[in-house]
Amino acid sequence: MATAKTNLTTKELKELKERLNAERADLQSQLTEIEQNTFGSNQSDLSGEMAFDEEYADAGTATFERERDLSLVNNLHDLIEKVDKALAKMDEGTYGLCQRCGKPIEKARLKALPYASLCLADKKAEEHVR
Ligand SMILES: [Zn+2]
Repeated sequence: MATAKTNLTTKELKELKERLNAERADLQSQLTEIEQNTFGSNQSDLSGEMAFDEEYADAGTATFERERDLSLVNNLHDLIEKVDKALAKMDEGTYGLCQRCGKPIEKARLKALPYASLCLADKKAEEHVR
């Protein structure tokens, strides 16, 4: 199916898969915790009548904390998505191949970042563009 193949051994793949699964569980629990803190506490603060919006939008620190939590949440969602993609690729047998050039991603890079989707050169190119 895949034209290029990584030089990862079955054992290495298995280890990476375990790490991805552990990573995913960890991200998920962080996410649940933040969501419970953010939305749970806000709701208990709001005694019935008050709506979410303007009163809170102007209250400096609350807004700041909410925004910080939201960006954390977005970040976690992004990471979970990356982990999911990596796991899906493992099932397809295309794991470890660069999304852009299709060449195998450096083994050391995968070990450092199991959900990496670009090879080092393409990652650098991408960062350069920004
Ligand atoms: Zn590449």
